[in-house]
Amino acid sequence: MLPLRKNIAEMAGYVPGFQPRDEHRYIKLNTNENPYPPSPKVIEAILAEVGDGLRKYPDAASRAGCEEAGRLYGFDPEWIIMANGSDEVLNNLIRAFVSEGEEVAYVHPSYSYYSTLAEVQGAKVRTFLLDEGWSLKDFPKRYKGKLFFLTNPNAPLGFCYPQEFVEEMAGRVDGVLVVDEAYADFARENSLDLVRRLPNVVVTRTFSKSYSLAGMRLGLAIAHPEVIAALNKIRDHYNLDRLAQAACVAAMADQEYFRQCVNKIRETRDWFSAELRVLEWEVIPSHGNFVFASPPDRDGKRVYEALYERRILVRYFSDPALDHGIRISIGTREEMEKTLAALVEIG
Ligand code: PMP
Repeated sequence: MLPLRKNIAEMAGYVPGFQPRDEHRYIKLNTNENPYPPSPKVIEAILAEVGDGLRKYPDAASRAGCEEAGRLYGFDPEWIIMANGSDEVLNNLIRAFVSEGEEVAYVHPSYSYYSTLAEVQGAKVRTFLLDEGWSLKDFPKRYKGKLFFLTNPNAPLGFCYPQEFVEEMAGRVDGVLVVDEAYADFARENSLDLVRRLPNVVVTRTFSKSYSLAGMRLGLAIAHPEVIAALNKIRDHYNLDRLAQAACVAAMADQEYFRQCVNKIRETRDWFSAELRVLEWEVIPSHGNFVFASPPDRDGKRVYEALYERRILVRYFSDPALDHGIRISIGTREEMEKTLAALVEIG
């Protein structure tokens, strides 16, 4: 027997969304990727980095990225850490704040990867369910665990908690409130102002959705410098390679392109949601680049399978809280028109 830690031996591991090998044969609306290419300036910046310079290690602290993000969001660079995908920084937040046997909590349904990361650390996991008004059921007056993850906008449901709610949560959490803003660029509000005011609030962002860079693995966290300093101690020292560093700086610098893509996705999302409602689907108003929608017979699996047969990939969750619908990422207008036609046919 290998001397595996008990929690590792017993855990199942996370199952990411399906990435087909022959992906060009599908309309791929299952992992909330962006249907538009990255900014041409990002491609230029990556290509400029390809060459002899790759012999050398990258800047360990990703300073150019921290500075660019600081300018963009209005923070000094010591409030920012760049990450190899936001998953990396979510992981390091658990490693920094939660010892074995201590508690991590999050909302169910939201991003179940928090649970996998907590299991690796040997932490306890607690989930809070949602009521009809998107409040948390049975949330204590004071939450005494070390870390609470609030996914805002919520994924996979797409609704957004108001900032007053997030602020109230920050006050009730004894430990750290991590606001996972993977989808905030598609929403109207975010918690950056709370980070400035409250030392126990951390915001995480990703470049995978709004910046079309899922393949580069880029994310960041914004928090009080004391939190950032702790995260800097435990990350891989060269966590961003040279190409990723060049890409994130160029992506943040090209805000015009970014805004165009985000606006197109929001417009398509709102149009697609309205069309689904015409078909008598129930659609949760979405603040992300996806919608969670339920067909009239509330059989998510049936629709998922029928779309799959037509080479349209969406996400179905067998969890009883989610099996009545499917999560559909927002693609181009053309992709969504084809999806809608398929849904009409499927009935
Ligand atoms: N948080 C949420 C809520 C997500 O949906 C995702 C993407 N699946 C992530 C974080 C991770 O993003 P990244 O690609 O930056 O690791």
